[in-house]
Amino acid sequence: MTDAAPNPLLTPSPLPYLLPPYADIRAEHYLPAFDAAFAEHKAEIAAITRVRSMPTFENTMVALESSGDMLDRVARTFYTVTSADGTADIQAIEEALAPLFSAHNDTIQLDSALYGRIKTLNDQLDDLDLEPEQRYLVERHYREMTQAGAGLDDEAKERLTALNQRLSTLTTTFEKNLLADTNDLAIVFDDAAELDGLTVGELSATAQAAVDRGLEGKYVVTLTLFTGHPYLASLTNRTSRKRILDASRSRGSRGGEFDNRGVLREIVRLRAERAALLGYDSHAAYVTADQTAGSPSAVHELLRRLAAPAAANADRERAALQAIIDTEAEPFALEAHDWAFYTEKVRKAEFDLDRAALRPWFEAERVLQDGVFYAAHELYGVTFTERHDLHAYHPDTRVFELHNDDGSALGLFVLDLYTRDTKRGGAWMNSLVSQSRLRGTDPVVVNNLNVSKPAAGKPTLLTLDEVTTLFHEFGHALHGLFATVTYPHFAGTAVFRDFVEFPSQVNEMWIYWPEVLANYARHIDTGEPLPAEVVEKLAASETFNQGFATSEYLAASWIDQAWHSLTTDQAAAELDVAAFEAAALADIGLDNPVVPTRYSSTYFAHVFSGGYSAGYYSYIWSEVLDADTVQWFGENGGLTRENGQRFRDRLLGVGGSMDPLAAYRDFRGRDAEIAPLLERRGLAG
Ligand SMILES: [Zn+2]
Repeated sequence: MTDAAPNPLLTPSPLPYLLPPYADIRAEHYLPAFDAAFAEHKAEIAAITRVRSMPTFENTMVALESSGDMLDRVARTFYTVTSADGTADIQAIEEALAPLFSAHNDTIQLDSALYGRIKTLNDQLDDLDLEPEQRYLVERHYREMTQAGAGLDDEAKERLTALNQRLSTLTTTFEKNLLADTNDLAIVFDDAAELDGLTVGELSATAQAAVDRGLEGKYVVTLTLFTGHPYLASLTNRTSRKRILDASRSRGSRGGEFDNRGVLREIVRLRAERAALLGYDSHAAYVTADQTAGSPSAVHELLRRLAAPAAANADRERAALQAIIDTEAEPFALEAHDWAFYTEKVRKAEFDLDRAALRPWFEAERVLQDGVFYAAHELYGVTFTERHDLHAYHPDTRVFELHNDDGSALGLFVLDLYTRDTKRGGAWMNSLVSQSRLRGTDPVVVNNLNVSKPAAGKPTLLTLDEVTTLFHEFGHALHGLFATVTYPHFAGTAVFRDFVEFPSQVNEMWIYWPEVLANYARHIDTGEPLPAEVVEKLAASETFNQGFATSEYLAASWIDQAWHSLTTDQAAAELDVAAFEAAALADIGLDNPVVPTRYSSTYFAHVFSGGYSAGYYSYIWSEVLDADTVQWFGENGGLTRENGQRFRDRLLGVGGSMDPLAAYRDFRGRDAEIAPLLERRGLAG
């Protein structure tokens, strides 16, 4: 073994903006750096709790916010890579690290002495002479540690830890069962004629899937996470459509080893017990207490309000589809597996729009520079300079330096556009360095997408969905970049889950804004702008099929709320999963048999194995603010520096440093109204 170079993770990066020195970091540096960082963090917390004098803002809160610097640096550097370039050795480290990291977090979050000091400060809030951000910092830390269980006695803490461990096992089991049953339920077709309507490429994919399963000569359709399936829109054979939808809806509820009904009942029961231990009536009450929603009743009120008009629209859409079927040679009553097929017929007839043919107008570099960056410049005065001398974790990453219009430096934006085998699916934003006045740091944020890389020398032509994703993720990036907070706890996107999608949803409004669209959507060969009639068709088709889309989303949100609103007594009963779900949907009027829920309980991974329990409502919750904000921009002249600055100063910049709804009120001049959302989704009546 050669003399090892010093571990570059143990000291702050020498690069501009503290961009991690990835060129010098090797996989074997991570675990020793985490070890050192855990030890340092524990020592820093011990130093806070050892202090004999009364807790003060300085000796407790400032010390707490200054602690964990190395852990923050190492974790951000590492987890950026696990998601975007998770090679086998990185994955092995991640697996080894998971229990260590969660044990470390428990140690800090449940530390009684630390909690006692923060509680003392929280009890005296009115007597302390604190700035608003300082006051909110005390409140938030107190709240978060209380929610985690730091205030419980030792016996209750022990039960809490046991519940957490059992829940962690159960959610993993749920996920494994779902994956296994999904694979098991792939549908085998003997004859290509049964798959009439698929494209040549799709058909050969099903033939290949059969070969992969040792079923040469047959055709295999694998299921997606949703209830619906993309092929349902094009398959002409009703029996084939029915087989696919039935298989999808039966996941996790067929009996046998992959059945999730018992698993989810126990998850629901234990979550209710944990909530009761922490002083709440239900898991939904526990979760929403620490969101902008505040309580389950606020969530239920919104969902109920939207459900009736959405269901009515879906029924009108059903009638229109039925009318087409009635003109056919052998009419029949529309069923759930027919919906997508007839919807597609209407879409083509009504809008005459081939979305795939639009790609030559969306060349990636032009969309980025003349669309995404252009809109940010017009609104916020930001300029972008590519730093070819700086590199992140992979050769495909590009680094841009941002400046304000007064010339001051703002931070770095890292773009990682392309898909690769080591990158997880989807698109996301994360921070490599978060802004903080206390630490003297400027932000370094990353956007990841999964765009296919073109052949060498060819341009990257985006789909309309990819253009939307680029604007969306850049909205999250701006939230991180514009942060002007003192304490790192509050930087940028460190806001409530039911608020965090709001800025990114708003940034999507500029995609179709005439000045922006005209600037970036130019044909790759001719430079011609997107024809006006195409723009009109796109705008018109935006609201198409919204009754169905809104209904299936609301149904899933309601099922999530129904399970997690149970008290411990109610959850103790041996509930029949299908009957419980049916009763819940009937209760809110979303029990239309031809409009199934987006997910049924037994395959609802977001809430039984992901992080969205009692929180699937978040998407529509933040869309209320989004639609209201889009209306505000529209009423005030749209794409102007003045409008952008107001949104930046009063909303994006404050991050999590104040009550987000108070920030919204400050920006908008009033609370959000629901009318713009109703209008957008065609629910105004
Ligand atoms: Zn998002």
